[in-house]
Amino acid sequence: MNKAEVRITIRFFGSLVDLVGDRYVKIDAGINQTIKDCIERLGVPHTEVYFITLRKDFVRFDRIVENGDTYFVYPECNLDIPKEYVLTPKYAGVPKFILDIHLGKLARLLRMLGISAEYGIVEDEMIVQKAVSENLIILTRDRGMLKKSEVVYGYVVRSDKPEEQLREVTLRYGLQRWFRPFTRCMECNGELISVSKSVILDQLPEKVKENYDKFAKCSKCGKVYWGGTHYENMNTFIEKFLENLSKGK
Ligand SMILES: [Zn+2]
Repeated sequence: MNKAEVRITIRFFGSLVDLVGDRYVKIDAGINQTIKDCIERLGVPHTEVYFITLRKDFVRFDRIVENGDTYFVYPECNLDIPKEYVLTPKYAGVPKFILDIHLGKLARLLRMLGISAEYGIVEDEMIVQKAVSENLIILTRDRGMLKKSEVVYGYVVRSDKPEEQLREVTLRYGLQRWFRPFTRCMECNGELISVSKSVILDQLPEKVKENYDKFAKCSKCGKVYWGGTHYENMNTFIEKFLENLSKGK
């Protein structure tokens, strides 16, 4: 073997296996490579890594890998890890998200359930900036965005189907306990406030005036919401989604 060769093995656990496609991966790391470089090169952004061990000891991202090393890499879990070796801190408080431009349907589903989901920025750089300054979790299918070193919270959405994406994100962040359906504007993410019919009467179509008495208005863009078939459809969707979630489907 060439002396310069640095061949290591990385064992991935849990949801990280989805990102790599395999549990064990052997790579030629090169000289002076950190374990973070090696993991990200395999398509796992640092935001997905909770902790790493080498021969049963915890290591940090800046560990320089050596020939023959075998690393164990774990996603977030409930194990008690010494604070200095937690590589991505758990998000504290009610999760708030920012989504990349390809996840519009997921953004609307999260908003429908009352979860804050910023959406509409096209530039990756701007998404990252906003996420960092407002402490938001980035949801994206673009792993490159999450490899940027300033990103703290982020998740690679695995599925390309909106409903499945919603399920993934709900499970990953335990969102169910934060669900408050129909409290947020589907269009702009603003919070809805209930409003009396008399105040918005001139904004309502005739049929709506006749048939509905309960209204909510977006505190940000002013859009008015009321019941109706789309509301009923969404309610059915939510009921079914929650039922499947509890059955583990
Ligand atoms: Zn709005």
